[in-house]
This record gives sequence, structure tokens and C-alpha cells, in this order.
Amino acid sequence: MDDHFNYQNKQLHVEQVALADIAALHGTPCYVYSRAALTTGFRQFSDALQGRDHLICYAVKANSNLAILNVFARLGAGFDIVSGGELQRVLAAGGDARKVVFSGVGKTVAELRMALEANILCFNVESAAELDRLNEVAGSMGKVAAISLRVNPDVDAKTHPYISTGLKQNKFGVAYTEAVALYRKAHAMPNLRITGMDCHIGSQLTETSPFIAAVEKVLVLVDALADEGIALEHLDLGGGLGICYQDEAPPAIADYIAALLGALQGRTQKLILEPGRVLVGNAGVLLTRVEYIKPGEEKNFAIVDAAMNDLMRPALYDAYHDILPVDNNPLPQACEGTSAKTPSIFEIVGPICETGDFIGHARELAIAPFSLLAVMSAGAYGMSMSSNYNTRPRAAEVMVDGKTVHLVRERETVQQLIAGEKIIA
Ligand SMILES: *Cc1c(COP(=O)(O)O)cnc(C)c1O
Repeated sequence: MDDHFNYQNKQLHVEQVALADIAALHGTPCYVYSRAALTTGFRQFSDALQGRDHLICYAVKANSNLAILNVFARLGAGFDIVSGGELQRVLAAGGDARKVVFSGVGKTVAELRMALEANILCFNVESAAELDRLNEVAGSMGKVAAISLRVNPDVDAKTHPYISTGLKQNKFGVAYTEAVALYRKAHAMPNLRITGMDCHIGSQLTETSPFIAAVEKVLVLVDALADEGIALEHLDLGGGLGICYQDEAPPAIADYIAALLGALQGRTQKLILEPGRVLVGNAGVLLTRVEYIKPGEEKNFAIVDAAMNDLMRPALYDAYHDILPVDNNPLPQACEGTSAKTPSIFEIVGPICETGDFIGHARELAIAPFSLLAVMSAGAYGMSMSSNYNTRPRAAEVMVDGKTVHLVRERETVQQLIAGEKIIA
């Protein structure tokens, strides 16, 4: 917990607002973000990079709410997108297309056209076939596409296998050994202009050494290209810096940047970074209410109104999220003697019909039906991975700014969910 999420009179607050008040106003489940936390994180990047030509491209997929994109856009951010839909979000949020880089292994013709139309900064190309397709699409539009190749440096990010992307066996990027040949190929294509090189080795990294190893391998290629007369304008070192969910100790943003700059050894190319999780993860919580307490023979369950459709990370990665009581006063029952209720160990689960539908295992909490809980560190890959499984409308989203509560996404309705469906004759 940091300054932006704290207890005041035993009531959990986001900045100056009690989470209990937000639940009363907007209901649960509800994602709550701190604008100050978003701003602080972004400034840590820009301060550490001061004096160096750089662009911080927030990775939209971590949390793509327009209000969040807008906060970053106003701080000068660029954006790393992985779909045409994300490009439309960036534009709708007031982001600058000229600061957008487009990553992803499966860009469709329609997506390439849309991005060329918008004049984005750079395509992070991930295969030989994509080079051909982009060259052709750009040519048909009378345009020249700025490209970098996403190189797979084959380093072990030492993170969860599902979020590790920089090993040979992963689907991402072009093989290290083929990169120079592909740059040559791109160099000869009339509708492509080589501007950079890109790598992104994984997510939730808690050490700097894999980043450094990747930079060192990238620089070998940069030099090889320079020898052939292919000079790069920028180096994009991706995202992936981890956050503390439980007891991880990732490097501070400033230390991570210092390590990268050290590894770059005085290179003067513009530096692009694509941080996602580290900018939003600890800037948001998922607010949920206990519906039922269900004592079991082996385990006690607390069934809450948030579920794996709202926050998929526990089910998908067995991820840990801290779960805090919104009201940290002893329960009223605890004061009454006979019905004394001491904290118990609970499985915190949702109502979805899947055994994988859990938010946390074996948490010691003093709770009763209707208690509010805050699932911490839920700002990244929470709402953006949510679904409508079990026909559950997606949660509302709120951004707190000082004392002010802004509803930044209305709770979805079942009407919206079924709007495109038809019954046949
Ligand atoms: C997901 C992703 C990021 C952001 O990763 P984080 O771990 O959230 O920082 C950056 N670049 C690319 C290409 C990605 O796919």
C-alpha cells in the first residue's frame, strides 16, 4: 500500500475518498483508480529519462479505459497498441497517433490500413510475412510505413511462462539469427522505411538482468546493421517491469531506467519504452462486497460479488492479489461477547460456475455478509481482460482525483450484452 491507498480512521481510502462511499454511489463490483497514482508513475519514467530523447508509449492493453489513456496523453505519453480497436481508443481519448507504435503478431490488412491512415509513428513488425503485407498495403495507399522489427533476443525473463515472450519458442518477434537478413529485405522494399529496432521479453519482470541481457543482444544487431549502412533512429526496449503484488521486490522505476541507460552505453538513438503494468497495476483496486459466508467441512468460503470474469488473473495465472477489508474496525459481533466472531481463514470466491473462480486462497479476514473488500493491485490486466461469462455485465469503473469521484465507465447492462443477438424464425 502507498500514499494513494490508505486507511483513515480505519476506513480504506483512495486519495481523499472512502471506498465505502464509492460503493454506496456506484455499487459493486467496481474498479477504482487513483489519478495521482497514475500521474506519479508516469512522472517517475519521464523524470528518469529527462535530458534524453525518449517516448514513453503506455501499453494500452494493460488498461484501456479512455480516462486512463487521457490522463497519460495529457502527460505527453505515446501508446503501444496491439489492435485496431486500441488505436481507435487512443484517438477517442485524445491521444496523438504520431506517438503510437503498433505491436502484435497478427495485424490484419484492415488494421494496417487504419494505422497507415492515422499516420502512426511506427509498426513493430513481427514476421517476414508481415513485412510483405505491410509493404503491399502501404504501396496500395501511396504511403511509406515506418517500421522496426521486433527482435526475439532469446533471453529468459524469469517470469510466469504465460507472460514470457522473449524465448526462442515463443510466437513473438523475429528470430535473433534472422533479424539482420530481414532488415536487409525490408531495406529493399519501396514502401517501408526502417526507423528502429524493438524487443519486449515478457511481463512482471522483477529483476533488471534479463532486460540488460536483451539490450546487449539488441545492440549487437544495431551495430551489424550500421556496418551495412542501415542506421536506426530509435531503440524500443518494450515494457515488462513488474510490480509488487505480494512480496516481490522489483527494481524502482528510476533504477530500472538507470540500468537500461547504462546498458545502452552512450547510444544516442531516441529511446522508446512500452510500460503497461507498472503504470497502472498498483493504481487500481477492485471493490467487491461479500454476499455469503459459507462454512465448509474443510474450508470456509466467502462468496463475493466479483468473479473471474471481472478479474481473471487468479484463475489464469494463479496470481496473488492482496485482499483488504474496506472497514478495518472490529465487526460489531466481536464486541457482543456470546456471538464473538474472530477473524477466520476464507477462500474468497466468486459466484461463477467454475472451480477456478477464485480471487484469493486462505485469507485471514474478519468479515460478514455485506462486508466490503478491496482486491488490491488490480489496475493492470483486470478490467481489460474481463468478460461477460455467466452473462455478468462488466463492472463500473471510477477514477478518484483528490476528493472527487468520476465515474469513467458505467456499469454494463444486460440490455447492452444482448443487443446484437437475434432469435431465428
Ligand atoms: C503487453 C506488452 C507490453 C506491456 O507489458 P507490461 O508487462 O504490462 O509492461 C509492452 N509491449 C508489448 C509488445 C506488449 O505486448
